[in-house]
Amino acid sequence: MGELLARRPLPKPLKALTRPRPKGGSRTGKAISCRKLRAESAFVESWREKESQDSSRKAALALHRQHCAQAGLMLECECCYAEELEEQIVQCTVGHLFCFACVSTYVGTRLGEGGPEAVLRLGCPSTSGCTEALPPSQLRRGLPEKLLKSYEARLEKASIELALSSENAASSSSSSSSSSRGALGDSSNGRLEQCPFCDFAMVMDALPEESCRLCKEISHIPLRCDEAKEKLDKDKVKDDYRVSVEEKMSEALIRECRPCKPGSQRLAYFLFGDL
Ligand SMILES: [Zn+2]
Ligand SMILES: [Zn+2]
Ligand SMILES: [Zn+2]
Ligand SMILES: [Zn+2]
Repeated sequence: MGELLARRPLPKPLKALTRPRPKGGSRTGKAISCRKLRAESAFVESWREKESQDSSRKAALALHRQHCAQAGLMLECECCYAEELEEQIVQCTVGHLFCFACVSTYVGTRLGEGGPEAVLRLGCPSTSGCTEALPPSQLRRGLPEKLLKSYEARLEKASIELALSSENAASSSSSSSSSSRGALGDSSNGRLEQCPFCDFAMVMDALPEESCRLCKEISHIPLRCDEAKEKLDKDKVKDDYRVSVEEKMSEALIRECRPCKPGSQRLAYFLFGDL
């Protein structure tokens, strides 16, 4: 296969054919009757095409680099001193320049060790004591896809954490009543709510004043959600039982309370006391 892809001549078969194939006869495309072999052949064709496109792109890039180098348009990375094309360079807000290779390493390290603040504001990696940041817009221009994805995820998580912690700080300092309600939360308008099981968070519209934020049922303070549900179910069972007893009793009353039937008086007395 490797020989086929690289257009090298195939190695000679171990045994010479007794009837050699005619020279110049093409064995490509529809001429191949075996379905599997046809698929393989199609794959080789597409692979060769992709390869040639890649190599022409590389050649064009090399030409572009050469042109830029001659025109003095290359920029130097502050970290590894490599000359790079302008589109391969990241700059901090005051213009310190770094190549994407160095910045990728730097971002990877910061993601590994830094807390949410470090992720929210990636400082300039310059050794000149620069206090500016590397803006996310710059990083999005050319960070490797995988690294960029994890950076974006961390950035989102960090901003949610920041928003949640600032909201919590604000609500606990503003009113003591909301903090005493604990897990049930307060009912200020448009509050940021986070899913208790994952990082998903969204700003909830204001709910009716007296509803539970967790189960969205009518407020059931001081019971927990599960306790409240249990109580509700029990009440329902009790209700059902009471209704069925009442039905049975009125049924008994109607059946027995006929003027001609002796004992109706006694039954009425039993049910309602002295009439
Ligand atoms: Zn560099
Ligand atoms: Zn800087
Ligand atoms: Zn969730
Ligand atoms: Zn609840």
